[in-house]
Amino acid sequence: MSNYDVVVIGAGNGGLTAACSLAQRGARTLLLERHNVPGGCATSFRRGRFEFEVALHQLSGLGTKEKPGPLFNVLDRLGVVDKLEWIEMDNLYRLVIPGQIDITLKADREACISTLQESFPAEKEQITAFFDLVYKFCLEFFSTFRDPEANAENHPLYFKYALQNTSTVLDEYFTDPVLKLVLSTYWGYVGVPPSRLTFADMAILLFAYIELKPGHLKGGSQALSTAILEEFLAAGGVARFNCGAEKILVEDGRVTGVVTADGETIPADYVVSNASTITVYTEMIDPEHVPAEQFEILGGSTIGPSSLTLYIGLDCEPSAVGIDETTNFIGTGADPDDVFASFREIDTIDNYVLLSCYNVSDPEASPPGTSQIAVVDLKYAEPWLELPPHQYYEQKYAVADKLLEQIEAVFPGFREHIEEIEVATPLTHIRYLAAPGGAIYGFDQFAKDSNMFIPPQSPIKGLYFAGAWAGMGGFQPTLSSGISAARQVIKKLRAQEEV
Ligand SMILES: Cc1cc2nc3c(=O)[nH]c(=O)nc-3n(C[C@H](O)[C@H](O)[C@H](O)COP(=O)(O)OP(=O)(O)OC[C@H]3O[C@@H](n4cnc5c(N)ncnc54)[C@H](O)[C@@H]3O)c2cc1C
Repeated sequence: MSNYDVVVIGAGNGGLTAACSLAQRGARTLLLERHNVPGGCATSFRRGRFEFEVALHQLSGLGTKEKPGPLFNVLDRLGVVDKLEWIEMDNLYRLVIPGQIDITLKADREACISTLQESFPAEKEQITAFFDLVYKFCLEFFSTFRDPEANAENHPLYFKYALQNTSTVLDEYFTDPVLKLVLSTYWGYVGVPPSRLTFADMAILLFAYIELKPGHLKGGSQALSTAILEEFLAAGGVARFNCGAEKILVEDGRVTGVVTADGETIPADYVVSNASTITVYTEMIDPEHVPAEQFEILGGSTIGPSSLTLYIGLDCEPSAVGIDETTNFIGTGADPDDVFASFREIDTIDNYVLLSCYNVSDPEASPPGTSQIAVVDLKYAEPWLELPPHQYYEQKYAVADKLLEQIEAVFPGFREHIEEIEVATPLTHIRYLAAPGGAIYGFDQFAKDSNMFIPPQSPIKGLYFAGAWAGMGGFQPTLSSGISAARQVIKKLRAQEEV
């Protein structure tokens, strides 16, 4: 008899929440992680006197104890809410396009509307109408989950707009291209330009960040990963770090166990994989056990962007270099489609970067008198993978230098205050996450890849997925995906017990 009911592969957000939830519901669970820390993207690392947040910029869906969001409920169920301290941000973001716009939007519907109306008076009424649409659309969207009879008559906005692209809807409402850029600023959080981003995704991002407020965790996302791991261990789960899973064993269409990178076979009837579906179906399971249709499904999706990320420690407070917002998007004014095309270039032309300074909302994010900054410029891995090894460092520092120039233009004096800097390319993300293409949100988040069309279940019995490759990327979706994978496994385990 096996020691474990379930083996969870990978301790990223999806794997951790799946493992913790499984152990808390009584499943004998083993968590395998190839890295030496829990979290995947949701982790931190040290350089000099700084502890750098790897991934979390603005947490969505948390809300407050008084007004809990869906993520609050997930974390509450895992028992980690009281172990975490989080900081609510007052503002959504500052968008700066030098020479065109410099605007900061509050995380408040009315304040957002009035700021936009002051900057774009010619479109005053349309701005109010657009926010009405976003809110009404989202309320209809949420009610479709409770209403199996939902149809175009009782949910007209949902059925009309859900799959329209964001640009089409913005064009329906507005004429000013800069206003459209301001309203679609969050497209960078999905990695899909407004011309291809569903209105549903865009509307929900805006609604959720305004209503539940963007947040940040004290101690960074590592605090969250560590808290979930502790609850998992307290519930009797077993975790092994520096222990990758190499193979998933399948017999007669059913999972029978996992083989670790050290060659140990661990029998189990259920596996939840936080490793990508691509890795699982093309490398971890022998091909004769993978139904042909599964390869067809994989072939219909494309690997999403990774990131060129700068982790910077400044030897001064943010105000010394003019940073007074936590979340800053800096663009060149280029059409988002051109920006998206530039994701495939190593060079940082036409780019659109996110600069987060955690100290603005949490002065303790780095030692007193310093600032912790993360700069994210989305990039696909291909050109980096094609680069001859001897050119890697030269290119990496050349593009980092260009990004710094762009930042310096908005925050003069920034460069001379750099005390620590680490540059991560898509190759770095591949190395640390073992994700194909170093993709930070899994597959490209095009509408066709949505869970609405591709069910996350595996055709192999006993195999489940959690994390970005099983649906959407980002903190809230991946943390929630682990809970739903655990729920499905527990249902099967209980049904087995009854037999
Ligand atoms: C620079 C950056 C900025 C980001 N900014 C944001 C943001 O502001 N907001 C937001 O919501 N999201 C953001 N994201 C995205 C978000 O962090 C990810 O989408 C999410 O954390 C992915 O979670 P996951 O569950 O898919 O697992 P991952 O984080 O991908 O972790 C998977 C884990 O599985 C392990 N693993 C893989 N293969 C094996 C194996 N064979 N055996 C054992 N272990 C294995 C890996 O080592 C890893 O620990 C960002 C990501 C990055 C990198």
